[in-house]
Amino acid sequence: MGEQSEPDLGSRVDLRTDRPHPARVYDYLLGGKDNFAADREAAHKGLQANPDSRIPPRENRLFLRRAVRYLAEQGIDQFLDIGTGIPSAPNVHHVAQASNPRSRIVYVDNDPIVLAHARALLTSHPDGRTDYIDADLRDVDTILGSTALRNTLDLNRPVGLLLIAILHFVGDEHDPWNLVERLLAALPTGSYLALSHLTGDFRPEAWEQVAEVYRRQGVTMKVRPKQEIERFFTGLEPVEPGLQILPAWRPDLGEPTGHPAPSDAQVSVYGAVARKP
Ligand code: SAH
Repeated sequence: MGEQSEPDLGSRVDLRTDRPHPARVYDYLLGGKDNFAADREAAHKGLQANPDSRIPPRENRLFLRRAVRYLAEQGIDQFLDIGTGIPSAPNVHHVAQASNPRSRIVYVDNDPIVLAHARALLTSHPDGRTDYIDADLRDVDTILGSTALRNTLDLNRPVGLLLIAILHFVGDEHDPWNLVERLLAALPTGSYLALSHLTGDFRPEAWEQVAEVYRRQGVTMKVRPKQEIERFFTGLEPVEPGLQILPAWRPDLGEPTGHPAPSDAQVSVYGAVARKP
C-alpha cells in the first residue's frame, strides 16, 4: 500500500460485492459502513429470522476485549488473530498494547475488504508491532509458513491464538477441529486459545433460517451445539469459568455496556479461553 493515499476500495481489489460476506454483514449489524447491498439484504433477512441478530456481534466484540485483556494479564504479548474482521476500534492491538505496548499481533483474514483496510490494523504502538496476512484459515500451512508471521511472532514463546466468531463459517467438510489442532501444534506450551462460536442450542429454527440465508448465497454458516464447540478445546486446560454464553465469561474484565443484560438465547454465542499445557 502507498504511504499517503487511502486505499481505493473500488478498484484495487475485487470485492465481489454480488454476494454477502460475513465480515461485511457483521460490520453492518455493528452499525459500520463497510458493507454493500448484498450484505445488507442478508443482514435484514437474518433480522427477520432472528430480530436479535445485532446482539451476537456486539457481545462478541465485548468478549474479544475481555479475552485479550485476560491474556495480557497472563503475560501473553504475542497474538495470532485469525478472522480479524473489518477494523473496529478497539482492535486486538489496542487492547493488548494498552497493557503491554511491546505486544505483537498478526492479523489474518480472507475477505478482500479487510485487506483493503489492513492499514488501520497496522497502527501499532512504536514499541510493538502488527502485521497482516491475507489468507484463509483452511490454509494452515500458508498462515504458519508466512514471512509476516515468522518476522513478527516468536513461536518459541507463548502465543494467544484468537479464533473469535470465525469457526461457524467453516463447514464440517473442512474439519475445523483439525485446523485448530494444527495451529495449536505449532505453538509452545503456555500458549492460549480464545474462541467464540455461534450456537443454535437456544433457538434452533431461527438460526437454521439465518444459516439458510447465507447458504442460498453460497456462504457456509454452521451453528454448532455446545459439545461440538467444546471439542475445539480438546487437550487444553480450561480457564475458569470454562465455556459460557459470552456475557457470563469474566464480566468483571469488561467495561459497563449501557445495555440491558441480554438473555442466553439472545446472545447464542459460546466462548472460552484455555491454555496449552
Ligand atoms: N474476529 C472478529 C470478526 C468476526 S467476523 C470479531 O470477533 O469481531 C468473522 C471474520 O472471519 C470475517 O472477517 C471473515 O472474513 C473471516 N473469515 C471467515 N471465514 C474465513 C476463513 N476461512 N479464513 C479467514 N477468514 C475468514
